[in-house]
Amino acid sequence: MNILSVASEVFPLIKTGGLADVAGALPIALAGHGMHMRTLMPGYPAVMQRLAKTEVVATFEDLLGEPARILAATHEGIDILVLDAPGFFDRQGGPYTDATGKDFVDNWRRFAALSLAGAEIARGLIPGWQPDIVHAHDWQAAMTAVYMRYTGLQHIPTVVTVHNLAFQGQFGPEIFAGLDLPPEAFSVEGLEYYGDVGFLKGGLRTAWSITTVSPTYAHEIMTPEYGMGLEGLINARAGELVGIVNGIDTAVWNPETDPHIARSFAAGSLKKRAMNRKALVERFNLIEDDGPIFCVVSRLTWQKGIDIIAEVADWIVERGGKLAVLGAGDQGLEGALLAAASRHRGHVGIVIGYNEPLSHLMQAGSDAILIPSRFEPCGLTQLYGLRYGCIPIVARTGGLADTVIDANEAALSARVATGFQFTPINAEGLRQALRRVFKAWHEPKVWARIQNQGMKSDVSWENSAARYADLYSSLLSRV
Ligand code: ADP
Repeated sequence: MNILSVASEVFPLIKTGGLADVAGALPIALAGHGMHMRTLMPGYPAVMQRLAKTEVVATFEDLLGEPARILAATHEGIDILVLDAPGFFDRQGGPYTDATGKDFVDNWRRFAALSLAGAEIARGLIPGWQPDIVHAHDWQAAMTAVYMRYTGLQHIPTVVTVHNLAFQGQFGPEIFAGLDLPPEAFSVEGLEYYGDVGFLKGGLRTAWSITTVSPTYAHEIMTPEYGMGLEGLINARAGELVGIVNGIDTAVWNPETDPHIARSFAAGSLKKRAMNRKALVERFNLIEDDGPIFCVVSRLTWQKGIDIIAEVADWIVERGGKLAVLGAGDQGLEGALLAAASRHRGHVGIVIGYNEPLSHLMQAGSDAILIPSRFEPCGLTQLYGLRYGCIPIVARTGGLADTVIDANEAALSARVATGFQFTPINAEGLRQALRRVFKAWHEPKVWARIQNQGMKSDVSWENSAARYADLYSSLLSRV
């Protein structure tokens, strides 16, 4: 079975969030199921530089106003198709924003071009290779399903995956003329969204199947609280909606072989974690004592509940805990955390920025990871935490609820607990959970049992890839 995946970021080539991890891991996991996935992505400068050997497999004289080529390459086992369109992608800044953090004004055209290229590949643009299924990720690629629906390719099954419904790709109606679509595409059955053009909306309307990255989030997005205005459409398509939890790359995230940590360890040798804790203490200028170190590795945004962390920081320190934060994002939240760090030197440390190697040490050296997200489609950092004996303390929402087993009395006595969940998602909710956490910390056997249980959790892609493989097969059986 040939599958075309279309994504705006793919780890390890370029990453701003969990989408990249999924887009990078899925093709490798699916290969074990006899499926050949090729991944179409934009040729950002960082991507072009990293690809060693490329081959031109198709050209466009004019792709929504720019000349473009498709280059084929292999990178760390991933079969990549790069949309090399310098007019769209050869620029300074991130994938979506300029160097000052502002969205590029032509994002609609850049990602419509990516999607249109995906649809053309589905049509057979690349000699000798045509996908049986097309799988598009998030709003940046969702238009692939729309182009396929309105350009005579509706017989090829499409899947649109929602990694985060908060990002929808909504633009004014004036852009429609630039999309090169027939007029009927600007309708409720297509792209039209409250008078605007909705890229994700169009994808959710036209895709054969919709997936999101956890079963709980799949339920949540059918409600007004989490549906972000799309709950009506999602309810109407509930029969085609599936929630599949993400896995993680267990080769990259392996405490036994991780090159980014001070000392490797395994479930049977948790004492060795102490060296990583020591390295972390030094990196964050913390005082070494016998209190727990809580880490945060996150975008610093309201969604991630970082204001809740800032609010609870003093309380954690009063109780003898330490806080180590790695993240970047909202300036107000960065400021609140920096203020906590200067109030509590040696007890609260913060590194502002994006630092992949350090994120590994955080999981290997901290005792627990705090994830108070207000909503969380899947979440990856709790999965890394489980694998590294860094106990996840999570808000009871989305994928966090699906992947962490709360250490309540019943779960503790059944020896299945892997972390702590809390609700309501506010400072008092988190403090309530932390009271239980501190209690467990003072009972080392209980703590070690939760760590060990977490390390036994299956966080690999195995199960998830099997679910995607089943989905693709069931869609093909409908052709
Ligand atoms: P989201 O995609 O919403 O940001 P996820 O938990 O799904 O949240 O994925 C976030 C990914 O980005 C994880 O792999 C996490 O380790 C990584 N990450 C987030 N912030 C940082 C940071 N400041 N430095 C390094 N890695 C980070």
